Amino acid sequence: MNELLQQIEAYKKEITDYKQDDAHAAETFRIKYLGTKGLVKAVMAEMKNVPNENKRALGQILNDFKIFTENKYEALKSNTGSPLQTTGNDMDLTLPGDTLPLGSRHPISIVKNKIISIFSRLGFAVAEGPEIEDDWHNFSALNLPENHPARDMQDTFYVSQNPDWMLRTHTSSVQVREMEKGNLPIRIICPGRVYRNETISARAHCFFHQVEGLYIAENVSFADLKQTLYFFVQEMFGQDVKVRFRPSYFPFTEPSAEMDISCLICGGEGCNICKHTGWVEILGCGMVYPNVLENCKIDSNKYSGFAFGMGIERITMLKYQIKDLRLFSENDARFLKQFTSAV
Ligand SMILES: [Zn+2]
Repeated sequence: MNELLQQIEAYKKEITDYKQDDAHAAETFRIKYLGTKGLVKAVMAEMKNVPNENKRALGQILNDFKIFTENKYEALKSNTGSPLQTTGNDMDLTLPGDTLPLGSRHPISIVKNKIISIFSRLGFAVAEGPEIEDDWHNFSALNLPENHPARDMQDTFYVSQNPDWMLRTHTSSVQVREMEKGNLPIRIICPGRVYRNETISARAHCFFHQVEGLYIAENVSFADLKQTLYFFVQEMFGQDVKVRFRPSYFPFTEPSAEMDISCLICGGEGCNICKHTGWVEILGCGMVYPNVLENCKIDSNKYSGFAFGMGIERITMLKYQIKDLRLFSENDARFLKQFTSAV
């Protein structure tokens, strides 16, 4: 009996001195003292060996010992993670780590990737070309011979003249390069940066980004064009969006059209963004002019095709309600970090 009491006192001292030296200290303590094979259970088992007249007193002592041990366990548990509980090891593995800001994709890249992903599901491959172009690929092959008035629609940065080299004014030059390769049918989109000598404002810049598309095969019709673009805007802006086509003019397509979508802000009711018309212009398109096909050595009696082009800035401004085009190139982190969660 006395031996047992001495043993309990020794255990109590051991428990009092028990130090937390790592994050698992409380659990280690529990297994050692309070587990099914722990010391408290082992001491309790001694009960059966003491005489009956001592059982009541010993029961009280054992119960106190158990509570004493449990209290220590609770203290260890609640101290876990506290930087004040130091035992010569100052490292606290439970503190959150230093966060590394990952940055965000540029909104133009986000929308460009989305456009590529939508058209790739329709079988369109991505084609790219040089940003400095010669006159043939940027203008002449596209039914814009020298002195054609439509050249004035695109104020051009010339790198040199006679022979003329320029910063491309549209990515249609990539389409010409693809058509010249002669691998028919052609089903491509051409994303890229283009340049025009325009005054910088909230709605225009001297450089911007386009995605143009081209599909050339046998028996391609305007119906194919409409369905392709309808699918695109539904995927980009939602299933409820409506479209309309207005007749237009481009030198390289005939017939040509501008495509509008129903205003995303007012849903067609009329607001400032849509200038109270309920519609916003989104892209230009049309059937490829036979001359353009012939310029690129494609038999226009056998093949037909459609082409379309859109400004990525414009799509991005509509999608994210951005009102000033200049924000895209100012590198203002307050603007850019708003797209951290966009993918
Ligand atoms: Zn509106």
